[in-house]
Amino acid sequence: MLHIEPVKAFQDNYLWVVHRSGSKQAVVVDPGDAAPVQAYLQQQGLQLAGILLTHHHADHIGGVDALLRHWPVPVYGPDTVKIPQVTHPQEDGDLVDVLGLALQVMTVPGHTLDHIAYFACYAEGGPLVFCGDTLFAGGCGRMFEGTAPMMYASLQKLAQLPAATRVFCTHEYTLSNLNFAKAVLKELPALTARIASEQLKRAQNQPTVPSSIALELATNPFLRCEDPEVLAALVTHQGTIERDPAQVFGALRRWKDGF
Ligand SMILES: [Zn+2]
Repeated sequence: MLHIEPVKAFQDNYLWVVHRSGSKQAVVVDPGDAAPVQAYLQQQGLQLAGILLTHHHADHIGGVDALLRHWPVPVYGPDTVKIPQVTHPQEDGDLVDVLGLALQVMTVPGHTLDHIAYFACYAEGGPLVFCGDTLFAGGCGRMFEGTAPMMYASLQKLAQLPAATRVFCTHEYTLSNLNFAKAVLKELPALTARIASEQLKRAQNQPTVPSSIALELATNPFLRCEDPEVLAALVTHQGTIERDPAQVFGALRRWKDGF
């Protein structure tokens, strides 16, 4: 059985540790901090076999050096001078094989220019994607380095993954994202139901992630840039009409930045 466990770090990061029943090997995705990962590995009797990185931000790579001192393992990540620890630089379409899991690399620039995601179509339990800070549950990452058309295209690539794909993003931002989604999508029944469900999880101190592509398509305004409800909400908010979906996305992102 494939286990994908969230290890909490900082205020609201999830560092994903992947391992299999019956094996001591584990890989970690975006270890921004080494200590909680090491504690988890020790507690579970696991040994690190690899590190996967999605982008260069410190809260995603800050623990890499300390982990490598204990375990000199392969480091998969974007091909960028900003992450010199990467031993296996990845490009769009590359395949990464870790723990018998075949992960396809997707370039998804926008949050940063170097951002990549890892998609497994045939994982036990259904398809999955590790998407870092691009698509979030109920929202999306900020555009620190990219443009709106670039980030929109990246989110569309993720939106076109199979509906059942589990979305392993890296922050617990869901309730705040859904608060904004409600300002845009109003009383959309799927959104109302989701807010109740996610609030219950948080009240029980449970993570709201992974999400799924199906749930995001139904309730995430950043994946609904052609939805008449979204266009109408934007007109009310800013008084002008955006026609191109990428421009709609950019206007939504600016609205959320000041929300
Ligand atoms: Zn980031």
